[in-house]
Amino acid sequence: MNILIVYAHPEPKSFNGALKDLAVSELISLGHQVKVSDLYAMNFKAVADEEDFQSIQNEDFLKYAVEQKHASKTSSFSSDIQAEQEKLLWAEFVIFQFPIWWYSVPAILKGWFDRVFASGFIYSRDSRYDTGGLKGRKAMLSATTGSPKMAYTLYGMDGDIHEKILYPINHGMLYFAGLEPVEPFIAWTPSHKEEDRKRYLEEYRSILHNLSEIPSIPYHPTSHYDENHQLKKEYR
Ligand SMILES: Cc1cc2nc3c(=O)[nH]c(=O)nc-3n(C[C@H](O)[C@H](O)[C@H](O)COP(=O)(O)OP(=O)(O)OC[C@H]3O[C@@H](n4cnc5c(N)ncnc54)[C@H](O)[C@@H]3O)c2cc1C
Repeated sequence: MNILIVYAHPEPKSFNGALKDLAVSELISLGHQVKVSDLYAMNFKAVADEEDFQSIQNEDFLKYAVEQKHASKTSSFSSDIQAEQEKLLWAEFVIFQFPIWWYSVPAILKGWFDRVFASGFIYSRDSRYDTGGLKGRKAMLSATTGSPKMAYTLYGMDGDIHEKILYPINHGMLYFAGLEPVEPFIAWTPSHKEEDRKRYLEEYRSILHNLSEIPSIPYHPTSHYDENHQLKKEYR
């Protein structure tokens, strides 16, 4: 398989760095083709602005999504965006490796989504979710936390991680773009104990060996919603 790893951590010797390095070496040893977007090493620009386009349609008023649509039609994104989009089209499976920062992804990765998951390229009025531009590809979040697992349960202080924290990423970004998100890998509080870190690395290694077996998250296709964006009664 062609596998893209989008990696967002500023420190190569971090536990996120170790998970990324493990993924690269294991996947290559299994015969996969692997590309890595190491966003900090690339000094990836996180802010969305007019520099993202080689030509601007409306110089008087920057309507970012409209300019994205124009750039998609005319292949006129800045070269850094274009390179990431080409990697996505090449990939059959995308892994996102990051620490949870402020209940979300680090800003550099959020900026990657803002700029790379562009209107016209990834989505349009009629093409989103199960018909999004990256349809046919799978994606997995591999995240680390500061809070312990119990804090991320239904009645925990941080709330259910799947519903409160990862849903906006899995559903709002990956699935919206047409990707098929699979169950995430989470290393809880890796900064605490060496024995936990060893166990996480072993667990992750076995997951990497069975990427195609990881269950997908069962989201509804757009046809299950009515014209008011409500889930039809028969699917509730
Ligand atoms: C701005 C910010 C916001 C945050 N917001 C949240 C939040 O909302 N919710 C939350 O839960 N947490 C939050 N955190 C905490 C953050 O999620 C954790 O600090 C992070 O997930 C830990 O992962 P790391 O890779 O940075 O760990 P590191 O601290 O880099 O690594 C942990 C340990 O692993 C060791 N290690 C590295 N490689 C290996 C290896 N191969 N084998 C064994 N050990 C190794 C390192 O030496 C280190 O001792 C936040 C942190 C920041 C900075």
